[in-house]
Amino acid sequence: MDLFEYQAKELFAKHGVPTTPGRVADTAEEAEQIAAEIGKPVVVKAQVKTGGRGKAGGVKLASDPADAKAKAEGILGLDIKGHVVKRLLVAEASDIKEEYYISFLLDRANRTFLAMCSKEGGVEIEQVAAETPDALARVAVDPNEGVDLAFARKIAEGGKLPAEVLDAAAETIAKLWEVFVKEDTLLVEVNPLVRTPDDQILALDGKVTLDGNADFRQPEHEEFVDAEAADPLEAKAKAKGLNYVKLDGEVGIIGNGAGLVMSTLDVVAYAGEEFGGVKPANFLDIGGGASAEVMANGLDVILNDPSVKSVFVNVFGGITACDAVANGIVNALEILGDDANKPLVVRLDGNNVVEGRRILDEAAHPLVQQVDTMDGAAARAAELAAAAK
Ligand code: GDP
Ligand code: MN
Repeated sequence: MDLFEYQAKELFAKHGVPTTPGRVADTAEEAEQIAAEIGKPVVVKAQVKTGGRGKAGGVKLASDPADAKAKAEGILGLDIKGHVVKRLLVAEASDIKEEYYISFLLDRANRTFLAMCSKEGGVEIEQVAAETPDALARVAVDPNEGVDLAFARKIAEGGKLPAEVLDAAAETIAKLWEVFVKEDTLLVEVNPLVRTPDDQILALDGKVTLDGNADFRQPEHEEFVDAEAADPLEAKAKAKGLNYVKLDGEVGIIGNGAGLVMSTLDVVAYAGEEFGGVKPANFLDIGGGASAEVMANGLDVILNDPSVKSVFVNVFGGITACDAVANGIVNALEILGDDANKPLVVRLDGNNVVEGRRILDEAAHPLVQQVDTMDGAAARAAELAAAAK
């Protein structure tokens, strides 16, 4: 999950990375009030999850509260690369002598972490990398060693930061590494990291990407979730502990095991080509325990997706045998009652398949059809979706 600048700066402050004091505003009046509280010139900044806000007119200096209000009015509602500005950060403006660049990221290709640093900050770093590659230091970080003050200083030297600020920059860089590790992030980027006229170092911008795989041990990150931007079905699935991803097709998919669900997506997309390009509507892995409750939760999420026209339940019985899954489906349909309103194609195979199929036959639910092969079931689900389109 990408964070807004003001959220990134909250994490910076928590780990002692120097930033400028400020608060968020949702209206121009609030921006004016915050500027009055700060009592000094401020910078009014669009909070959108995209870069290049400055160039797009989303970052403006304001000399006094009235000016802050006027600048806020100009920025709120602005469309920056498809992101409409609804929130602003109003922060004390700083004097800038120089602008640098620093980041930590996961370097997948080299299976390590990477620090990037340059004295040519402020501008887009892709441009620095393309035009003056020597000006951008790339320093591999050994995850077992981490970044202490001495190593942070090497990174700063690599980026050719001037001698006067090496100590201050090293201290900040080491703290940014602490943010990177302790907050379980995939990216921490500061552009610009500025040098003030009195040689202080400040993080004036912040971009942080949190690693969602670590959410379980970062309960405090919950508050960063942008509920407004989240897909409501994905939010509902998450609340129920389901492993669900919304896609843009018409065939709802439920399976047990991520690998099986992935191949189910492929098989449905392939089968759908014969029926006018019908595609999978989601990924949903109900995992090993296909209890009635999990099945009902899964069906509930999928059936509430208006783009879903048919559902393909693809289960390979293992530790959870097919009879348990079949009972799960029957009970889930009972729980859902009239909310279950789209055809279900069920393919069961594996452990206790005969009994599983018998249970579904006996229940004879009007919405449920069984097809014994995965390809056959995918084709049937695609056909039903196409017919209902
Ligand atoms: P971005 O364009 O989305 O990367 O937004 P930034 O936060 O990096 O701001 C863009 C530019 O605005 C920076 O590179 C600075 O030159 C300028 N800027 C941002 N904050 C201040 C400030 O407090 N004082 C001054 N003088 N300039 C600022
Ligand atoms: Mn920036």
